[in-house]
Order: sequence, then structure tokens, then C-alpha cells
Amino acid sequence: MAYAYDDQNIFAKILRGEIPNTTVLETEHALAFRDLYPQAPTHVLVIPKGAYVSYDHFAAEASDAEIVDYIRAIGQVCRMEGVAIDGNEGFRMISNAGAHGVQEVPHLHVHILGGRHMGRMVQKTEG
Ligand code: AMP
Repeated sequence: MAYAYDDQNIFAKILRGEIPNTTVLETEHALAFRDLYPQAPTHVLVIPKGAYVSYDHFAAEASDAEIVDYIRAIGQVCRMEGVAIDGNEGFRMISNAGAHGVQEVPHLHVHILGGRHMGRMVQKTEG
């Protein structure tokens, strides 16, 4: 089954310049910006510029150039934000996908969270 991409999602609007963002890094194929509702002292979202819903969509259909650029952009953001583990305290990277992943915005993004201890990885919840 094909992946369906909704080009009215909020990150697509950010990429088209229709909604402002606080950019941390822009590369040929990626954009990193601060989460509007930060859940940690560092909370940056990194998205590919291409129309991909989720990590699995990106992995299946993105070009090698897009994948390399995106992964390296994530690493660069970690270094720029002072959370990379070459001398810093580290970070958590999360990418929610679909209903069970509780993804709110249907454009691939990773959350880079750091600047505090992040606690347990997953908490058991109802539903
Ligand atoms: P997710 O639940 O993984 O889809 O995460 C979506 C994230 O996007 C949430 O952490 C929101 O706070 C964040 N968000 C929603 N709208 C904006 C926006 N306009 N600019 C920056 N971050 C946003």
C-alpha cells in the first residue's frame, strides 16, 4: 500500500514559509527548528524537506542523498545544541509514527531532547 502524505500538515506549511519557525539549521534536504512547546531545555525537531510521513516512509522512498543529508543534519544539531556525547550529557531522539506512535504531525520528524535527565523511555499508559 502506498504512503499517503497530507500537504496541509503544519510542517509542510513551515517548509513552504506559510508559518514561521525558529530555525536551528537548514541543509539541502533538511530543516531543524525549535519545538513550539518544548518539553526539555533542548527540544529541536528535525525534518526532511521531502514529503515523507514517517521514518519507514522515508527509509523506503527517499534518495540516498536525502537520507545522508538528513542523518548528518541530526548529528549536527546535536553538536550545535551541546547535547552530543563527545563531552556532553547526551540526548533522547524520538520519532513518533502513526496512531500507536501517537504522531500528531504527519510529516517525518525526530525530536532531539536534552538538557535534563529524560527519565524512563516509555511509560505504560491506558488506551
Ligand atoms: P508528534 O506528536 O511527534 O507528531 O510531535 C509534533 C510536535 O510538533 C509537538 O511536539 C508540537 O509541540 C510540535 N509543534 C506543533 N506545531 C508546531 C509549530 N508550528 N512549530 C514548532 N513545533 C510545533
